[in-house]
Amino acid sequence: MTNFLDDTNKYVHKALKFSGLSEDLSNKIIICNSTYTVRFGVRLRGKIFTFEGWRSVHSEHMEPTKGGIRFDLNTNSEEVEALAALMSYKCAIINVPFGGSKGGLKINPADWEKRELEKITRRFAQELIKRDLISPSMNVPAPDIGSSSREMAWIADEYRRIHPSDINGAACVTGKPPNKNGLPGREEATGRGVQFIVREFFKNPDLLRRVKLDENLSTKSMIVQGIGNVGYHLSKFLTQDDQVNLIGISEYNGGIYNEDGIDVEHAKKYFTKHKSFNNYPKATFIKDSSLLLKRKCDILIPAARENVITEKNAEDISAKLIVEAANGPISYKGNQILNRKKIFVIPDILANGGGVAVSYFEWVKNIRHIRFGRLEKRRNQFQLNTLIEAIEQMTGKSMPVKYKENFLKGIEEIDLVRSGLDDMMIDGFQEVKKAYISNDKISDFRTAAYLVAIEKIAMAYDSIGL
Ligand code: NAD
Repeated sequence: MTNFLDDTNKYVHKALKFSGLSEDLSNKIIICNSTYTVRFGVRLRGKIFTFEGWRSVHSEHMEPTKGGIRFDLNTNSEEVEALAALMSYKCAIINVPFGGSKGGLKINPADWEKRELEKITRRFAQELIKRDLISPSMNVPAPDIGSSSREMAWIADEYRRIHPSDINGAACVTGKPPNKNGLPGREEATGRGVQFIVREFFKNPDLLRRVKLDENLSTKSMIVQGIGNVGYHLSKFLTQDDQVNLIGISEYNGGIYNEDGIDVEHAKKYFTKHKSFNNYPKATFIKDSSLLLKRKCDILIPAARENVITEKNAEDISAKLIVEAANGPISYKGNQILNRKKIFVIPDILANGGGVAVSYFEWVKNIRHIRFGRLEKRRNQFQLNTLIEAIEQMTGKSMPVKYKENFLKGIEEIDLVRSGLDDMMIDGFQEVKKAYISNDKISDFRTAAYLVAIEKIAMAYDSIGL
């Protein structure tokens, strides 16, 4: 049987063979530092319901530690530990100065009304806050499956009530709504980061040659699994900005397929309204959505949950490139088969780092207490205006209006967020690529990514003198 935590550790062990790390330090890096289990009661509907949740801290080589909170009936302590480990590796690769953490609450959000969910979330948050498992300087959650900016706003408010004098309290959690100390661009960030990674891959002819793809992204087809936060945003950006042809969307209760392309906005609206793609008018409904993963396409993007490609179906996958937007979608054995089939996989710990990158920006903004670009925007506009005036005077010609407007519009906070994210994702990609091509024996991008991550974590432990 596939075990997410065991598989994650197997990936680390595989990469460790290429590093010169000692066995004891390697063991220190792999092991999860702590997992707190909490069971708490909430009085709802005239009786007391007991809920169970976890918060794992994988590595404190840097603090605060960082990682989302998943609201899902299937979550458990092992899953949360695996996800916490992925957070450590992910932060290391894209140079986010955080350790790894993760949380899970065993609940189906759809079973509860909004006010009930708020009560449950606040009680869970209280339990974690009083143990510093939610704290601006120690441990900072964010949204994950089943949670969103709404839950993050409740958690931040609960923290404020418990610690009213903490001036940095808003930084106790990220992914908050922009009007509640959040950051424009956080909600889209993971999907946006996946877009930047896909673009970067298509700018590397040596990698493209390995999978027999050319650099023209606009002629490529794509199938996406999961049309939640991450799947929706990446589909929207890759189809609208890069003209990738989205031919399939797979959801837990059926999927849709259309070779001529699927309109993401239309499909998302339909799924949100009907909670299913059944009878969707603009594509063929496929009841067994797992079949969609096997359909021919250039790019396959799992963006739902773990272990969806295993030894049971990996042999039938026919995509040329898989980009892991979800955490842990490919099992260890599944990965071995894909490697053998020479299907290129960009691993989760690189591909979906965009969320934590922008969470880092949000955290920085919260402790700086000022929005990005606030101080320099007008000054920059003034300088650009002076430059345009000088050019116009010297040439005797006026600058075309569209360029002038673009110059003078100034840089908004969202532009800075996207630019910072792009830079972090590209740097991460190039660091992994460097490790990948530096040693012929490193057979896949995932191993290279783990190698980059563990060497950085080892360096951090080394400098704090373990
Ligand atoms: P979400 O809850 O918004 O969306 C998940 C989607 O997947 C939902 O539409 C759900 O119906 C669908 N789904 C569930 N099981 C499925 C199945 N078996 N087949 C097909 N579809 C299925 O969650 P999300 O925030 O988009 O997260 C998705 C994945 O991305 C998770 O693995 C998460 O850990 C990872 N991730 C999320 C973020 C983030 O910022 N939200 C950051 C990094 C990684």
